[in-house]
Amino acid sequence: MSIKMPRGTADVLPGEVELWQYVEEKARDLCSRYNYSEIRTPIFEHTELFQRGVGETTDIVEKEMYTFIDKGDRSITLRPEGTASTVRSYVEHKMFGSPQQPTKLFYIGPMFRYERPQAGRMRQFTQFGVEAIGSKDPSIDAEVIALAMQLYQELGVKDLHLEINSVGCSQCRPVHREALLDHLQGVRDQLGAEDQSRLERNPLRVLDSKDPKTQELTKDAPSILEFLCDDCAPHFQKVQTYLTEMNIPFVVNPRMVRGLDYYTQTAFEIMVQGIGAIGTVCGGGRYNGLVEQIGGQDMPGIGFALSIERLLLALKTQEVELPINRNIDCFVVTLGEAAKQKSVSLVHNWRTAGLRVEKDYLDRNMKPQMKSADRLGARFVVILGDDELEKNSVVVKEMASGEQQELGFEEAKAYMLTALVKEEK
Ligand code: ATP
Ligand code: MG
Repeated sequence: MSIKMPRGTADVLPGEVELWQYVEEKARDLCSRYNYSEIRTPIFEHTELFQRGVGETTDIVEKEMYTFIDKGDRSITLRPEGTASTVRSYVEHKMFGSPQQPTKLFYIGPMFRYERPQAGRMRQFTQFGVEAIGSKDPSIDAEVIALAMQLYQELGVKDLHLEINSVGCSQCRPVHREALLDHLQGVRDQLGAEDQSRLERNPLRVLDSKDPKTQELTKDAPSILEFLCDDCAPHFQKVQTYLTEMNIPFVVNPRMVRGLDYYTQTAFEIMVQGIGAIGTVCGGGRYNGLVEQIGGQDMPGIGFALSIERLLLALKTQEVELPINRNIDCFVVTLGEAAKQKSVSLVHNWRTAGLRVEKDYLDRNMKPQMKSADRLGARFVVILGDDELEKNSVVVKEMASGEQQELGFEEAKAYMLTALVKEEK
């Protein structure tokens, strides 16, 4: 029996990989405009990092991690998300000591979660995320949200829906927690076993439950927004003001709590209408307690993560075409043994000059070579036979116009380069 890829993973094949490259390049370009620098952290970390950094009562830590004992008897986990690793690295390398603050970082890379696979939900998926550590200014909350929104917008995703909330801080959350507990105790017996257990450990998480029954039972639960302290309330107000000033439409959803335990103040999600059962394409928020939790100083932070898989799903669902040029510049058709030999150095020379060039490797005659050129979208076909070889020349045919002329080797190269530069302009 042949071996298949594991459930929840995917091969990205030529034809599709160009979409990935385009999106990743766009993300990198945006980050450079917003002055976020790339960080690359290991694919696996000590399990404890995620237990501490994501939180024991989260779905991720409770049931989704790929954890194993390595040959040195250490508990290792394939990273399920990027924030904990980024913050670990920030603390480990004392980035808070750099004169340039806040520290603004981004990452793109694979994450692993043991989930039930469906469209847009994979066991290995690729997240693009940013983290800004070292400022509690609400303008950076707004900036991070703006960056995420802009990625979708510049790629052409339509019907974006932004929801924001504030989940408070260690000052106001306990007061809300009491009120919430009061409410939840009243419906406790009707909750599923998992939500009952959450009720005890982290009642806020019950609001995040995916169980429709829980959602119904907690519909009138007290809202955190009524409990925000003198620090959190104006902070949340400012975030909204800045979003409004940037013309970014949003809706306040007081029930949104997000998946991590260390979120404080701003939480946000971006949804796209009609992408499968999921809808949410990006999630983020502030995590003012996280850096300390991971062993650093008390430093505020905020970030988001989104998966390229869900982004591409949104583009596909909405039938958005990315402007990708898959065509080559030139196909060299060779006729006869001598021409075939000459083509090796000719093609090499032209590739060195910057042209995207392909040739025949299958000893085919003229017609199938022309077909190949056509399939590859070659802008020019260059024909090299015995006659041309004798004169050190080739026949250059521009496919779109059908125009054709005989040129010397160097001349042909210069002609194609000039035409392509003109086209770019
Ligand atoms: P969900 O509620 O859909 O499970 P989540 O709360 O687990 O999402 P986060 O941990 O906040 O998601 O991750 C941020 C983003 O990463 C999501 O909005 C989504 O775009 C993407 N993402 C999360 N899990 C997966 C997955 N299994 N496959 C593909 N993309 C994912
Ligand atoms: Mg999830």
